[in-house]
Amino acid sequence: MASVTVSKSKLVVKRTRLFWQLYLSYLLITFIILTAVTWYTSESLRYFFLEEAASDLQVRARLFKDQVMGYLDPLDREAIDLLCKRAGRDTATCITVILPSGKVIGDSVKDPKKMDNHADRPEFIMALRRPPGRSIRFSQTLKKDMMYVGIPVETGGHISAVIRASTPIDTIDIVIKKIQIKIAIGILAIAILAAVFSLFISRRITRPIEQIKEWADSIAHGEFQFRPPVTNSEEIAGLSEAMHQMAIELRERIGTVIQQRNEIEAVLSSMVEGVIAVDMEERVISMNHAAARILGVSPTEVRGRSIQEVARDTVFQQFVRDTLSSQGVLERDIVLSSNNEESLNGHGTSLCDAEGRQIGALIVLNDVTRLKKLEEIRREFVSNVSHEIKTPITAIKGFVETLQDGAIREPENAERFLEIIGRHADRLEAIVEDLLSLSKIEARAERQEVLLVKARLKDIIETAIQICEVKASAREIDVKLSCKEDITTKLNPPLLEQAIVNLIDNAIKYSSERKTVWIEVSQKEDEFVISVRDQGCGIERRHLGRIFERFYRVDKARSRRLGGTGLGLAIVKHIAQLHGGHVTVESIPGKGSTFSIHLPRPASS
Ligand code: ADP
Repeated sequence: MASVTVSKSKLVVKRTRLFWQLYLSYLLITFIILTAVTWYTSESLRYFFLEEAASDLQVRARLFKDQVMGYLDPLDREAIDLLCKRAGRDTATCITVILPSGKVIGDSVKDPKKMDNHADRPEFIMALRRPPGRSIRFSQTLKKDMMYVGIPVETGGHISAVIRASTPIDTIDIVIKKIQIKIAIGILAIAILAAVFSLFISRRITRPIEQIKEWADSIAHGEFQFRPPVTNSEEIAGLSEAMHQMAIELRERIGTVIQQRNEIEAVLSSMVEGVIAVDMEERVISMNHAAARILGVSPTEVRGRSIQEVARDTVFQQFVRDTLSSQGVLERDIVLSSNNEESLNGHGTSLCDAEGRQIGALIVLNDVTRLKKLEEIRREFVSNVSHEIKTPITAIKGFVETLQDGAIREPENAERFLEIIGRHADRLEAIVEDLLSLSKIEARAERQEVLLVKARLKDIIETAIQICEVKASAREIDVKLSCKEDITTKLNPPLLEQAIVNLIDNAIKYSSERKTVWIEVSQKEDEFVISVRDQGCGIERRHLGRIFERFYRVDKARSRRLGGTGLGLAIVKHIAQLHGGHVTVESIPGKGSTFSIHLPRPASS
């Protein structure tokens, strides 16, 4: 297919309104026709009058010919001249009698003797050769346009004279002028009528076209109602029908496009992943809410702004640049230094138009900060567990080897070593048990499988105290409980019991002998608070925020010595969370600590 390239300047055509084109054309045609008609009519009239005058002169000349015949042979010049003068007077026509030599022998006005030879006059020459002779010319004698008609007079078989009749034709011109004026007035009237009529016709033709144009404009502005022009023209009716069809199709297509756009917008805004579209100049075309949140900007304000302004992170900017310059899909881990060290996983791909040309890039950002943190926690946890179990295992191995090396035969040492081995084995068991129960609690929490039943709080706490009784009495520690009988709430008895046991156990462990541990249950507006208060060593302020973490210990050696695993408080925290509550701690080093489990209070209790 040949392609035609038209420069923009060539397309600039001076445009005139169709109405004026039609109207001026009509006026021009009318003017040309009327001018032609006027010219033709006046020329025809002039011809007609001249023909009339010529035949009239011819008739007069013939009549005069009969009178003059008798005076030609023999030639009576005076009689002929007299006849001429009389005929001229009677008929108001100039009569001249000319001999074949051109000599004038009679004239109705002048004296023939004083007149020139007329041999060179065209009407005379024609009358002799091809009668009748006729000529129209300006008469120097009479100072006006004259018509001359000459006829030959034959006597005895030869031309003996030429009779010339003439009349001024200015009267004809005057008559023609008068007629022309009348015609002109008529034509002017017709022209005015034609102008009005043309105006009407032009408007009739252009009005529907203007209406169609207005309709097309309204379609372009998104108004699709049917507005056909009032016309009886088949072509314009056909055009308006075609436009109507076009408007219907356009409306359907725009509707589909809007619906698709809304769907895409809904999908984009509900996506957790951040989506950013940029053009080839690295300007933002669009950005969903998730991307705006990740980059800490407003999605509506960034449109059209460069990515450098929107995201100040150079790694991210480089990723956008690389995506724009590469053809395939790009994947990169990005840590946004500007935004709380957010870890992102970015996918970049080219953005193409309908013809497949690259018009920009699409960046999809996954916020993997939480995953990274979880991974870190998991790594830390594995290393903590390994570290915790390494010590007892090493000790057990060491003592077993010592026994194998001969210590088994030394009963005193053997017993002591076996005791140490037994203690480390207990420690391993405690760690494994705590880990198992922690993972069970977490798994149940994740699966939301915790069965909560209505139970009396006092019963649970009393059971917990009983479990700890042996340890307490071994250290002569008094455990006191203050709890109203009727406090009931929804809870999981074995789990809550375990949490309280852990707290009492810690209170006993970290208190010196013969101290008291108080357990109090208080009712607040929206919660029950179970507090375990001791008079123990207390915890320094800087540790308070972390003691609920797994394996976190204030004093590692002491904890181990006392048989602690570093998991007790983590278990308490998870159990409280399972009940929809939380844990708190208050402590004064050297004076004691208070650990509290806060349980939400049902509206009815
Ligand atoms: P552990 O098994 O070591 O007791 P926990 O998770 O129960 O582990 O407690 C974590 C740490 O918190 C303990 O190592 C200890 O340092 C501190 N701690 C817990 N309870 C008390 C308490 N009642 N008084 C003082 N310190 C405590």
